[in-house]
Amino acid sequence: MATQLSSQLLAWFDQHGRRHLPWQQAISPYRVWVSEIMLQQTQVSTVIPYFERFMAAFPTVQHLADAPADAVLHHWTGLGYYARARNLHRAAGIVCDQHGGVFPDTVDGLMTLPGIGRSTAGAIVSIAGGGRAPILDGNVKRVLARYHAVEGWPGKTEVSNTLWALAEEHTPGQRVADYTQAIMDLGATVCSRGTPHCSECPLSLQCLASRQGNPRDYPGKKPRKVLPERSTIFILAHSDSGEWLLEQRPPSGIWGGLWCFPALATAADDAGAASNTAPTDAVGNWCLDALRSEPAQLQTLAPFRHTFSHYHLDITPVRVRVDAAAMGVMATDRFLWYNPRSPAQVGLAAPVARLLAELTHDN
Ligand code: SF4
Repeated sequence: MATQLSSQLLAWFDQHGRRHLPWQQAISPYRVWVSEIMLQQTQVSTVIPYFERFMAAFPTVQHLADAPADAVLHHWTGLGYYARARNLHRAAGIVCDQHGGVFPDTVDGLMTLPGIGRSTAGAIVSIAGGGRAPILDGNVKRVLARYHAVEGWPGKTEVSNTLWALAEEHTPGQRVADYTQAIMDLGATVCSRGTPHCSECPLSLQCLASRQGNPRDYPGKKPRKVLPERSTIFILAHSDSGEWLLEQRPPSGIWGGLWCFPALATAADDAGAASNTAPTDAVGNWCLDALRSEPAQLQTLAPFRHTFSHYHLDITPVRVRVDAAAMGVMATDRFLWYNPRSPAQVGLAAPVARLLAELTHDN
């Protein structure tokens, strides 16, 4: 049965809803799935060009399953949270190998695939299939937490359970695809995180947080914790011809499977004590040991911080010119010479992509 919220949202969607987004065209489980995964932690305006390039490169789930992992990560470079791309690739393989290229049509069936949680499965079932399935992505959590003034951080199980029950209650039996898009849209455009536009909202008369005058207090914030700090040295080894040495990260862990500058843990990172070795000395030694190459023009660049969800990483980049011809490491698959002017189709860790852009610009 339709609730007042769902009826009001559908009426609002008919007048104000967005219908021009690329994943709202030629709707299919594959396109909804890719868009939902990209939209996790990432804004619509950022996702649009990534989605369009991804669909041009991998127009069907079979194309995605057949693609090399490096090509998939390449199209993800800059979006962050790369486990999402690795899971997409794995799930595409399973859909093709075990389901004949057809996505399961139930929430439970979809949730057996890597990287698909209940909300993403709900979005695929409701938007692509018109089936009645609730969703609870970040936008929907915010709308429901405010509308019902649900206290607490949604990462806590009891808060999450309350929100899921409300999501279930409000999901209508009719026009479920439109309702799903409507509530996501309202969260993205009207009930925004920083500044909810309650005066433009179709729910304002019933919305408890709006009536209380404190919508920004909902949903509750994640309890803050102090993140540990680690540090590393990035070795920016380049050849005379302007290529940069990159090393592929192991498949799991930070930047898993991506290509990165070779990195040296610092003594402070290893043993909790300050390092006595200057970054340029450490890099010079590494060139001699690992590359059998005499380092030249060693230069420490400005350090910067990259923050992961679970720690801060302080990165000191050290630039060094090496003799590419003298190096034996090229025989392994783990290294490549990367030419930013004709880039290999590989995935790059975000700070590596940024540094390469700066270095190319400077040259
Ligand atoms: S009235 Fe305000 S707080 Fe409530 S759902 Fe609408 S925009 Fe969000």
